[in-house]
Amino acid sequence: MTIFSRIINGEIPCYKIAESENCFAFLDINPMVRGHVLVIPKREVDYLFDLTDQELSDLQLFAKKIAVAQKKVIPCQRVGQAVLGMEVPHAHIHLIPMQTEKDMLFSNPKLKLSEQEFQQIASDIRAAL
Ligand code: 5GP
Repeated sequence: MTIFSRIINGEIPCYKIAESENCFAFLDINPMVRGHVLVIPKREVDYLFDLTDQELSDLQLFAKKIAVAQKKVIPCQRVGQAVLGMEVPHAHIHLIPMQTEKDMLFSNPKLKLSEQEFQQIASDIRAAL
């Protein structure tokens, strides 16, 4: 079982943003910027493009709802989307509120946020959904 499946099952804690029947969203624990969210399918599939057409479209539409909420409460020009999957073998979309294109550079140092900051960001995004 992947670490993300264990997060979905509640075995590992996360700062949850939302879930639907087939999708789940939570804050990235090593955020590039404030409000960096991961959106994942509940079905454990490593590679995004191995999802069925229906699963992929469900995931993208779910991500859209989260991105709209992020844009309302996290100061940013727009929400960028990226798919890497080099670390965790469970398909995921990164949603990253960007001020500049440099905010999308995965080689950037990650932010260190307190528990309280994570909680506040998650609660702000949830409230904007
Ligand atoms: P990728 O697979 O796209 O290269 O990166 C995986 C992402 O998952 C990284 O941004 C990393 O910070 C995040 N990540 C890895 N393990 C955990 C975890 O246990 N909890 C959370 N919230 N994020 C994680």
